[in-house]
Amino acid sequence: MPNSDGRAILHVDMDAFYASVEEFDDPTLAGQAVIVGGLGNRGVVSTANYEARRFGVHSAMPMARARRLCPGARFLRPRPARYREVSASVFSVFREFTPLFEGLSLDEAFLDIGQSIRLFGPPDVIAEEIRRRIRSRTGLTASVGVAHNKFLAKLASDVRKPDGMFVVEPGRVREFLDPMPVERLWGIGKCTAPKLRQIGVLTVGQLRRSEPALLQQALGNRVQHFLRLARGEDDRPVQPDRPDKSISNEQTFEVSLTSRDALLAELLGQAENVAGRLRTRQLLARTLTVKIRDDRFRTVTRSKSMVAPSNSTLTLYRLARALLMRWRGEHSATPVRLLGIGVTGLEGDEGAGHLAGDSADDNAARRVDRVFDSINRRYAGGVVHGKTLKREK
Ligand SMILES: [Mg+2]
Repeated sequence: MPNSDGRAILHVDMDAFYASVEEFDDPTLAGQAVIVGGLGNRGVVSTANYEARRFGVHSAMPMARARRLCPGARFLRPRPARYREVSASVFSVFREFTPLFEGLSLDEAFLDIGQSIRLFGPPDVIAEEIRRRIRSRTGLTASVGVAHNKFLAKLASDVRKPDGMFVVEPGRVREFLDPMPVERLWGIGKCTAPKLRQIGVLTVGQLRRSEPALLQQALGNRVQHFLRLARGEDDRPVQPDRPDKSISNEQTFEVSLTSRDALLAELLGQAENVAGRLRTRQLLARTLTVKIRDDRFRTVTRSKSMVAPSNSTLTLYRLARALLMRWRGEHSATPVRLLGIGVTGLEGDEGAGHLAGDSADDNAARRVDRVFDSINRRYAGGVVHGKTLKREK
């Protein structure tokens, strides 16, 4: 798709995201109306699947009303940890096409793929490939809008929803925008739309052709802004998410720990937690810090950089263990009140676990990581230690 200023923007939006994750995880929900949200008296609908939407249920609706409209639906409490995990898989697909992506929420992002066209093909091809990879990796469908700016891309992702793709060609912006109700313009809501209606402006096309002086009554000093939107103009850049600077995990104990085994078991759990989060976000860490507070509230930190950046549980654990044991050598039986692991110097894991020249040891550690990750996925939040600890000794 050629465009006016060399920009090609995708808006990727997962279809009925929370409800789709629930349906994927629980096949007994197939074909049923599914409503995810707060189940209490004051609960609000987070997401309704398409079956439930047929009954008029939509997000942000009070749950009490959703129950009246669609009493036969399956009502589910949200599982944010699970949605974050699926979201990480979705965003890992974006990273394969461009570093320039901006997440709007767990299930929605803008991608600037202007520089990716040379490598991966035209925007519509990239959009379809992203949809295909999301589906094969998560089992879920996404809809994509393609345009030369964010505003149009966002509107376009709705056109073929669910499970569709739509391209706004630069030469057909008017055709695309003019018939839309003015409410589709960002910033025109419940307050402004009635004022526009009063002066006979119902569609984007009518707004675009109106005299600025007339529009002033309804839009005040934002007239030029809305006229630009009505012409499909939007020059805001895609602003990539800032990467995390550090990841850490620490624990204060009700009863201070003194035994070596208890300390190491705790340390392994923390290494799993931190390394797992690095892997989920496809990051590697350069430096590891162990934080120790004794029962007299003296806090020390010990840091060491790794030979090569890593996100392996065993690599992080071994380094943390060496740092902890050195401290312990100087403070033999001092009870430990707080123990923590943090990593800094984060960078993208470009090889995503397929670096050349891996030693057999690294490959074994990676297999262990995959096992941990799959266990953690199945038992959200729960981590298995102990067995690895014994093997380590
Ligand atoms: Mg969505």
